[in-house]
Amino acid sequence: MSELRQDRTSGRWVIIAPQRGRRPHPGDRRTRSAPRPAFDPDCPFCPGNETELPGIVAETPGEDAPGWRVRVVPNKFPALQQHPSPPPDTGHTARAGYGFHEVIIESPRHNADPATMSAGQRLAAVTACRDRSRALLEQPGIETAVVFRNHGARAGASLAHPHAQIIALGLVPPRLAAMSAWSRGYLHEHGRCPTCEELEIECRSGTRVVEQSDGFVALVPFAAEHPFEVWIVPRDHQASFTEPDAGELAAFGEMLARSLRRLDGALDHPSWKFVVDSAPKQDLGAPHFHWRLRLVPEAATWGGFELGAAMVINPSSPEQAADTLRAVRVDQ
Ligand SMILES: [Zn+2]
Ligand SMILES: [Zn+2]
Repeated sequence: MSELRQDRTSGRWVIIAPQRGRRPHPGDRRTRSAPRPAFDPDCPFCPGNETELPGIVAETPGEDAPGWRVRVVPNKFPALQQHPSPPPDTGHTARAGYGFHEVIIESPRHNADPATMSAGQRLAAVTACRDRSRALLEQPGIETAVVFRNHGARAGASLAHPHAQIIALGLVPPRLAAMSAWSRGYLHEHGRCPTCEELEIECRSGTRVVEQSDGFVALVPFAAEHPFEVWIVPRDHQASFTEPDAGELAAFGEMLARSLRRLDGALDHPSWKFVVDSAPKQDLGAPHFHWRLRLVPEAATWGGFELGAAMVINPSSPEQAADTLRAVRVDQ
């Protein structure tokens, strides 16, 4: 079967072509086959190596003071800077690279894994991500804060110590801008947030739902761009990742961890990435924008067609991916 599918929440079209069929490549198993130590003397994120850090932005105190549980630090090699030089006038369109690039160190333990760390540790980590999103969106000139994470060497993680990142910048990146414009138009035309409508349809059919709780739904989207892509979406309308309260964050973190364990079970510990699509400042509190986390294992590098078309061929069936993920036992 080949199908062109449109994602109701963004307007993006995807080619679903499972006959090209292959599962993602087996994962980077080094992290599993060679267990890491709890402390690495050469790791800048491990406790005691603070001199390697460019600074400390925020800390969550540990259960046993004086330690820390989660630490936020500036990225040592930032994509954007707080005090960039203005670009030279060359006749091209350019702006100073103003923004923030921070690292959320999710645990003092070098070998902690977000799929299996304690619920308290996980809650502290996702809370730090929410709090930094709030704080950075309040900075002057900042329009968007993007939380993301790379896991495993094949996903581009350069340091093994568990960490997420956040980049805040002074414009709305094209993908979020398109999603904002699309969902605004959808609300105008249909009177509903497209993601709220999509969740209702998906939960009714259940075909692509991986699991659901009172607060969140994990699903393989109808127009998934990548094999085994999973979204975690708040069931009630929320525009921004700055909105969930402590209870919601705890439920979100647990669903994320179970989804990671499902991927570990289904794909034998793949590398993965996630990104949080959250409302830019212009859409905070908006009735059309609905945040979600997108989790993508083993994201393929784009080939020529994707480069040209900015449209993806997904060589797998979203329905079969959901079946496989549902079948993995994740209770610990
Ligand atoms: Zn470390
Ligand atoms: Zn909604």
